Amino acid sequence: MLSQEQSEKTVFSNDVVGGLRQRAWVEINLGALAHNVRQLKGLLAAKTALMAVVKADAYGHGAVTVARTALSAGANWLGVATIPEGIELRQAGIDAPILILGATHTPEQLKAIAHWQLQPTLCDPKQALVFSETLAATTGGNLPVHVKLDTGMSRLGPLWEQATEFVQLVHSLPHLQIASIYSHLATAENPDRRIMQQQQQRFETAIAQVQAASMSLPLLHLANSAATLTSPDLHYDLVRVGLAMYGLYPAAHLSSSVQLKPVLQVKARITQVKTIPPNTGVSYGHHFVSDRELRLAVVGIGYADGVPRNLSNRMEALICGRRIPQIGAITMDQLMLDVTAIPDVAVGEVVTLLGQEGKEQITADDWAAVLKTISWEILCGFKHRLPRVAVNREQGAGSRE
Ligand SMILES: *Cc1c(COP(=O)(O)O)cnc(C)c1O
Repeated sequence: MLSQEQSEKTVFSNDVVGGLRQRAWVEINLGALAHNVRQLKGLLAAKTALMAVVKADAYGHGAVTVARTALSAGANWLGVATIPEGIELRQAGIDAPILILGATHTPEQLKAIAHWQLQPTLCDPKQALVFSETLAATTGGNLPVHVKLDTGMSRLGPLWEQATEFVQLVHSLPHLQIASIYSHLATAENPDRRIMQQQQQRFETAIAQVQAASMSLPLLHLANSAATLTSPDLHYDLVRVGLAMYGLYPAAHLSSSVQLKPVLQVKARITQVKTIPPNTGVSYGHHFVSDRELRLAVVGIGYADGVPRNLSNRMEALICGRRIPQIGAITMDQLMLDVTAIPDVAVGEVVTLLGQEGKEQITADDWAAVLKTISWEILCGFKHRLPRVAVNREQGAGSRE
């Protein structure tokens, strides 16, 4: 354990996070992100492109920073869910091709898409007609579009049996240029591959029929992170990678394929330390009552920042490389730890809620297991109240976003 003087030196000299002014923050390791992109690129054939999926503010990591880093590490495309997410990247000066993975419908949306040079997903005949007519009436130019087929996800797109009909329609409409045909897998992280194989067969069948109708084939893509890690025959011309780029494995059995590093860490500072006597209730509802005298630390982060309240009494945090239990209900802006094991811990000390300190590590998968959810949801849960601090751990340098 550091003495108070040493720990103050360690803690407060860190201007990156504004010293004590910063109660809590998310640290984004751009070195880890670039490493992950390079690892994933290494799995792909030379002709296969990598789309960095940066929807939902890059799964909570910060879309602009992630997009720039991913592109310079070898990503070729960007994937977003909505038009505003695409515009944010364009306004930041990013000129890589951007696919909108979600549905868009109206002439106004189409105008924004064309203006910002985004590329929409086409999933419905009516949408295709509206887009073609709107382009005819406005710019008169051509727009690259991406045809989405439903091969078993039962989400966007016409059913795979209607692929030829739909592709023919889009093909026949003026101003729409089919840039790709794609589908999305429902069970790629499942060790049982049967449903995924059925989806792939349907995709292949649909593609063969499109080809038989003497239409030339655009780019084809099917793989998310799990499929990218599973097998090269799922890669086609492009893989759409989200979770793995952020350094998490879609499933434990996929962890041997490449070595990924978690990009995001969540940190906060101790704001008060005190000793409470035995039989003292802690936090709302007194769901924790001390069975002995204990040293309690208050930490400046809570459920409004994205630490799920359902982790109350069921999570740990890292301080000075040691695992420390969280106690009592997590409140909106603060939570409490039992720091009896390190009694001289000081106000201002950094607590790692997600991340690594020395040999100890707490991952989004750990939280997801307790909460019976998936790591994707954990990552997306960190709110904008938490500033994002970009670091490059290899270089030890940092800069505020
Ligand atoms: C979100 C998304 C992805 C990325 O999925 P990961 O499992 O995070 O890699 C790929 N394709 C589509 C259509 C998506 O919506």
